[in-house]
Amino acid sequence: MKKSTYISSEKVLGDKNNDINENSTFQIIFEQSPISTQIFSPGGTLLKVNKAWVKLWGAKFEDVKGYNILKDKQLIDLKIMPLIKRAFNGEVLDLPPVKYEPNKTINDVSKIQFRWTKALIYPIKDSKERIQKVVLVHEDITEQKLNEQKLIESEERFRALIEKSTDAVQLVSPTGEILFTSESIKNVLGYTPEELKGLGVAPFMHPDDLEYFSSKIQELLKNPKKHIIMQYRVKHKDGSWAWLETTGVNHLNTPYINALVGNFRNITDRKKNEEDLRYQKSLLEAQRELSPEGVLVVSPDGKMVSYNKRFVKMWKFSEKLINIGEDQLALEDATKKLIDPEKFIKRVKQLYKEQKADFEELHFKGGRIFDRYGAPVVGEDGTNYGYVWFFQDVTKRKQLERQKDDFISIASHELKTPVTSIKSYAQVLELKFKKEGNEKAAELLSKMDAQVSKLTNLIGDLLDVTKMDTNSIHFNNTQFSFDELVEELVEEMQRTTEKHELILKGKTNKTINGDRDRIGQVLTNLISNAIKYSPHTRKIIIQSSIKKSAIYFSVEDFGVGIPKNEQDKIFERFFRTSGPGKETFPGLGLGLYISREIIKMQGGKLWVESKIGQGSKFCFTLPIKQNRNETLKNISAGEELKQG
Ligand code: ADP
Repeated sequence: MKKSTYISSEKVLGDKNNDINENSTFQIIFEQSPISTQIFSPGGTLLKVNKAWVKLWGAKFEDVKGYNILKDKQLIDLKIMPLIKRAFNGEVLDLPPVKYEPNKTINDVSKIQFRWTKALIYPIKDSKERIQKVVLVHEDITEQKLNEQKLIESEERFRALIEKSTDAVQLVSPTGEILFTSESIKNVLGYTPEELKGLGVAPFMHPDDLEYFSSKIQELLKNPKKHIIMQYRVKHKDGSWAWLETTGVNHLNTPYINALVGNFRNITDRKKNEEDLRYQKSLLEAQRELSPEGVLVVSPDGKMVSYNKRFVKMWKFSEKLINIGEDQLALEDATKKLIDPEKFIKRVKQLYKEQKADFEELHFKGGRIFDRYGAPVVGEDGTNYGYVWFFQDVTKRKQLERQKDDFISIASHELKTPVTSIKSYAQVLELKFKKEGNEKAAELLSKMDAQVSKLTNLIGDLLDVTKMDTNSIHFNNTQFSFDELVEELVEEMQRTTEKHELILKGKTNKTINGDRDRIGQVLTNLISNAIKYSPHTRKIIIQSSIKKSAIYFSVEDFGVGIPKNEQDKIFERFFRTSGPGKETFPGLGLGLYISREIIKMQGGKLWVESKIGQGSKFCFTLPIKQNRNETLKNISAGEELKQG
């Protein structure tokens, strides 16, 4: 130690009457001591610090000149002021570890943010027991404290990790005794680690899995440090069986562990999902096999991924072709069997490309007929899984339909002649009775004639349908006045009903070229429907006009109306509905089918506008002149009118 330092220290101390100050040996020891030391006056003012203090706190004595320990607010906050005061009253004391921040006491005094210190504080007294100075010696324990804290933090992190983990860890002795279980066992099986400690594993096992589990444990015992995965059921705290997936490792010879270590998670939900999936799959397979239809699923890359036996049988595919499983080969083979293979192939390719659903009738060379349905298989998220085909052999059904049509055709044909004769006889008889003055008999015969007329109409409808199906209907086209036909028929129909008022509006003033009887048949059908389907309202408006150089005709009633979803169906053969109150109206469901066909064949268009409960308006258009170009023009005019 240089003298100058000594002198300057002395100067700082500046108390020439003090024993300590005069003891230069003490000064040297004080200065050179590696232990941070401060000396205070009995009033608490800092008198001197040593080098170690400067190093520890990163401040010089000059920086803290005037500091009084007894007024240090930070020490009050740290709750050690009472101890310090006791030292100033004469006691020797150890101060507990505190975290001291120098800059909190004097702004910007040091670059050091904080230090953890333990301290010894003791008074120095003179011979008369009077306190001369108080000495404070610090021990820097910052590093130790920080390490401790890090340890605590990492322990806490580790604990949180294990506790929050969905996996639980268990240490088990070779005899199956549970040595340790992590807290997370609560999440996995509902137990607390304490509840399990010291118990055996076996009582928790599902009896059916015990043998499997034992064999796995044997495997573990034989293979130190090898990871062995096992799945088995154990009893959950709530009494249910939980599926566990455990990774076991034999650490019997690993120092500090010396146990079998199991890391397990609850996979009950996963198992249940797997089971559901298996169930769904078998259900689907059963459905597919039991289906009366042939089913084929083609993957997006053209592989036949799934099909049923019926599909193979229907198409008479060879085993070899099926084993190869290429859709392309099946398509090639199929074309050899079809009457129009080009159309089929073209359509299939287009459907694969456009990923659309579609229906088609397939005709085979031997006479078989299949209904073919196809639809893309698309997952909820839009993933494309390929295309599914359904084939239904409808050969028999088609045959029966043809037989039925033949029967209707023959029966109605055969019925027509005798019924016409009955009608003539009835009319002759009615005249005869009228002449003889037998009014009663004449009236009965007139009623009979009306009923026979209905029968004739029904037979006529049936005959017409068969004619339309076989394209054998003939038209007798002539020039006639449309307005006259309408007036004639409205007058005739008005005579059949007292309840309704047929209101005729508008005129066309046109002569048209067409089949007068067939067009008359349509008018009669529309007006009689309007009467039939408006039993509780009176008005029926019949209107003729010219729109876009075509006849535009409509029959409007204010009766039961037609629901939107049935407005297309009513034009199908044999389609009938009951009224809104489920009342039934007589009829075969053929009139509108026949009417639409007639109007179509006469170059026009027929449609309906209707609201349920408010009534219906049936409209048609007809070309005024009937040549091919005009017909086409009028069809499109009808389309425009319908849309407009
Ligand atoms: P039918 O009247 O003999 O049943 P149609 O072919 O003439 O056969 O009519 C088919 C169906 O259309 C009828 O059953 C009826 O449900 C419905 N329909 C036809 N005209 C009307 C109308 N003016 N008002 C309400 N529904 C009608």
